[in-house]
Amino acid sequence: MTEDILTVEDLAVSYGRVQAVRGVSFTVPRGALVTLVGANGAGKTSIINAVSGVVRPSSGRVTFQGKDITRAPAHKLVRQGLVQVPEGRQILASLTIEENLQLGGWHTSGGRTEEVYDRFPVLRERRRLLAGSLSGGEQQMLAIGRALVAEPSLMLLDEPSMGLAPKVVDEVFRVIQEIRAAGTSVLLVEQNARRALRAADHGYVLASGEVARSGPGAELLADDAIVAAYLGLE
Ligand code: ATP
Repeated sequence: MTEDILTVEDLAVSYGRVQAVRGVSFTVPRGALVTLVGANGAGKTSIINAVSGVVRPSSGRVTFQGKDITRAPAHKLVRQGLVQVPEGRQILASLTIEENLQLGGWHTSGGRTEEVYDRFPVLRERRRLLAGSLSGGEQQMLAIGRALVAEPSLMLLDEPSMGLAPKVVDEVFRVIQEIRAAGTSVLLVEQNARRALRAADHGYVLASGEVARSGPGAELLADDAIVAAYLGLE
């Protein structure tokens, strides 16, 4: 039996009267890459933010490494190994690249910075430059690097390909696969459903805050009815 690093049961998230997530359940097996896909507004960001402690779910249960973490604050979860790469990267443009990486490892000895530089040599070359001087793709690598410094056992990525040129998107997906191959479990939220499902072991298609379909990524992609109904013509 595969152990699940993350279990989400019957999760609901509301913003006032807006019910963004309505009873969503899914699991991330340890070592797997699982993706949540769906149209704009389907509830993907709300789910990932509820898992990482950025928003409070109105009901449901989130279990990480066997512990109930529902409503645990984000900084506590980072210490436990659950680290998010937020939508829009949210790097600190007026700090240097090195300072951004050091912030990612605030709770560690910071020993992972060299490993991140080995993975992203461009960040090492420019370590003393302001993060705001990087291109969009490089900023995404910095955001991923900042999460890696925190030594995650589960990395949550929210729309890492957003706004990037196709060649850069390829690189982002290559990096995500490498992180997974090195043993980190990954929960990936993407509007770029085809790319995400191709990369994922398992996918969940969300529509209006609910899981509409789920299955192995390749199977979902091969189903013309699912592609036509939920994934559109990307
Ligand atoms: P996107 O790709 O646009 O981020 P998404 O699938 O991630 O979409 P969410 O951002 O989770 O979806 O949004 C789900 C629903 O909740 C949408 O109807 C959205 O308008 C609403 N919503 C999200 N955040 C808030 C908020 N802070 N206040 C009110 N409504 C919100």
